[in-house]
Amino acid sequence: MLKRYLLAPGPTPVPSEVLLSMALPIIHHRSADFLPVLDSAKKGLQWLFQTKNDVLILCSTGTGGMVGSVNNFFNKGEKVLVVNGGKFGERWTKICQTYGLDVEELVVEWGYTVKPEIIEEKLKKNPNIKGVFIQACETSTGVYHDIETIGNIVKNYADTIFIVDAISALVAHDIRTDEWNIDILVGGSQKGFMLPPGLAFVSVSEKAWKKNENSKMERFYFNFKKERENLAKNQTNFTSPVTLIIGLNEAIKLLQKEGLENVFRRHRRLAHATREAVKSIGLNLYSKESPSNSVTAVEAPIGIDGQLIYKTLREKYGVTAAGGQDRAKGKIFRLAHLGYSDIFDIIVGISAVEMVLKSLGYPVELGKGVAKVQELMM
Ligand SMILES: *Cc1c(COP(=O)(O)O)cnc(C)c1O
Repeated sequence: MLKRYLLAPGPTPVPSEVLLSMALPIIHHRSADFLPVLDSAKKGLQWLFQTKNDVLILCSTGTGGMVGSVNNFFNKGEKVLVVNGGKFGERWTKICQTYGLDVEELVVEWGYTVKPEIIEEKLKKNPNIKGVFIQACETSTGVYHDIETIGNIVKNYADTIFIVDAISALVAHDIRTDEWNIDILVGGSQKGFMLPPGLAFVSVSEKAWKKNENSKMERFYFNFKKERENLAKNQTNFTSPVTLIIGLNEAIKLLQKEGLENVFRRHRRLAHATREAVKSIGLNLYSKESPSNSVTAVEAPIGIDGQLIYKTLREKYGVTAAGGQDRAKGKIFRLAHLGYSDIFDIIVGISAVEMVLKSLGYPVELGKGVAKVQELMM
C-alpha cells in the first residue's frame, strides 16, 4: 500500500468536515433551500477577501476568473501592463492578447519580485495604461509580490484598475482588498480554500464596475454584470455548483473558527519552517526575494534532476509535491503549505525529501531538516 500525501500548490487536501458536507443530497439552485447557502457563502467570501465589494462566485477553475477579469472590463486595443515573473504572469499576457488588448509586459527575472517604482514610472510615462495585472504569489517561482505598495500606486490613476491573481495567495497571505485598493482580486477553490477544484472567486471594486459599463467585449458565460445582479438575489447566472458552495461554507466556518490572524500566522510559520529545513540540509531557495507563505520553491542540488526528485517523492513515498514549470523544469521542486496544512505535513514533506536526496546520491544527514522543523514549530 502506498498512502498518499498531497503537498502540491493545488489541488490541496480537503478536510473531512468539508468532504462530508458535500456528501449530502443535492439541492435545487433556484429553491428556497439554496438562498441562505449562497447568502452565507457571499458574506464568508467578503470576510476572507477583507472587502465590502461583491465577490462573484463562478463555476470554473481559477483561470476562468482570470478570463472574466479581462473581457468584462476592457476594450480591444486598450493598453495594459502585465507583470510577468513566471508561468502565471505569462498567462495574464496570453489571456489579454487573446482578447486583443495591447499588452506591455514588465518582465521580471524568475525568482525575483517586481519593483513597484518601475510600475509607477510606467504609469507616469504612459497614461494610456488602463489596467495593471499581476500575481500576488507567482506559484511557478514561489515569490510573493508587494501588492500593498503597488495598490497604493495604481489608486492614483483614475482610469486604471489593479487586477490581482491571488489564486495561490489567498488564505496563506493577509491580502487586504479594500485597504490596498485592489480593484479585482481572483481566487480559486483548490488552493488555500481547502476545497476541490471547480470554483473561482472574483471581487470587483466600484472603480472596476464603472469600467465595466464602457467595456464592449464579447462575453457570454463569464458575464460579470449578470453575475452581480444574480448575486444580489443570492443566485448565480447559470446552475450553481451547489455542492461546492456548500463545501465552501463549511471551509469558511473552519477558517472563521481559527480566526483570520491565526490562519495567516499558521501559514507564515509553516513556510518559515519549510525554508529553514531545506536550507539546513544545504539546499537553496529558488525564490531569491520575498518567498511566499503558500509554496516553497527549492533548487535541486547540482547534478540532480529536479523532476527526478519530484517523481521519486511521488512514486516511492506517495508524496505529491510539484516539479518546476517551463524554464525551471528540472531545476527545482516545490513543496506547498497551503490551506489544510499543519506541522506534520511539513515533517512528512521534509523527511521524504531527505530520503529521496540520499537515495539519489546527495550527502544529507537524515533527520537534520526534520529536526529543524520540530525545533521551530515547538
Ligand atoms: C493555480 C493557479 C492558477 C489557476 O489555475 P487553474 O488550473 O485554472 O485553477 C492561476 N494563477 C495562479 C497563481 C495559480 O497558482
